[in-house]
Amino acid sequence: MKPEDYAAAASRICTACGMCCDGTMFQIVKLQTGDRPAELGKLGLKVRSRDGEFFMEQPCSALRDTCCTVYEQRPARCRLFHCQQLRLLDGDQTTEREVMTLIASARELVEQVHSLILQNGLREDGQALLDRYERVMSTPVDAELEPELAAARQSLEAAMRKLRRLLNREFRPPPLSN
Ligand code: SF4
Ligand code: SF4
Repeated sequence: MKPEDYAAAASRICTACGMCCDGTMFQIVKLQTGDRPAELGKLGLKVRSRDGEFFMEQPCSALRDTCCTVYEQRPARCRLFHCQQLRLLDGDQTTEREVMTLIASARELVEQVHSLILQNGLREDGQALLDRYERVMSTPVDAELEPELAAARQSLEAAMRKLRRLLNREFRPPPLSN
């Protein structure tokens, strides 16, 4: 694939996806040397620090629908990030159509997980998906006293397991060193 064709296809694909920015895949993005935390904070990104390291919370506040509104000023990690699907596309090991199909499957599972989290009593609160999931799962349920809630909990666990498997197998790149 020619570089310009790859760039156009990647843009269409990411616009249909957004999972690496909307709190589905990550809870935080670590800022790197060269990133400017104060400037990024002024752009509205949720920049925080812990133990001398800066990071920004996800879902990213710069995301509108599935587009980055600070694209030219986005942090280093965002510039360097290419999920497995984009890498495969770049190497002509998959097609735009195949990637779109995987994204549709993943997004369907994400919707299921969101809806099951609501059924489990946790309203939308703007936190990353995994944070919300863990909050639900950390509350004990007595299956004898609350059988419906116990069933909803089990459904949530199963849907999240499927989603994690799909994201790990098809989207997450190998871990970075820091
Ligand atoms: S997960 Fe991949 S396809 Fe989806 S928005 Fe991120 S880089 Fe694009
Ligand atoms: S700054 Fe842009 S690319 Fe980076 S996480 Fe936010 S929306 Fe995504």
